[in-house]
Amino acid sequence: MPNPNAEPGSDAISYAVEFVGAHPGMSDRILLEHAREDSGHCRRCRYNLRPERWPCTTARIALLARGSSAGIRHEHLSEDES
Ligand SMILES: [Zn+2]
Repeated sequence: MPNPNAEPGSDAISYAVEFVGAHPGMSDRILLEHAREDSGHCRRCRYNLRPERWPCTTARIALLARGSSAGIRHEHLSEDES
């Protein structure tokens, strides 16, 4: 089950994590689209006006929905809280 405490104070993120987690395969599809590039940016979100470093918000949601922090470091998950 997704951990609702992974992003304290962010109900929207918690809701999105639950939603993705309830749909098998959705997190995989998201992570294929929002993959990490060699530059450290998200493959898709690098085209935003303000390119996001990977994991971007969308990738983080998918990773949290998987219930797996493998491959990412905790400080990346917490970077918005500082
Ligand atoms: Zn992205």
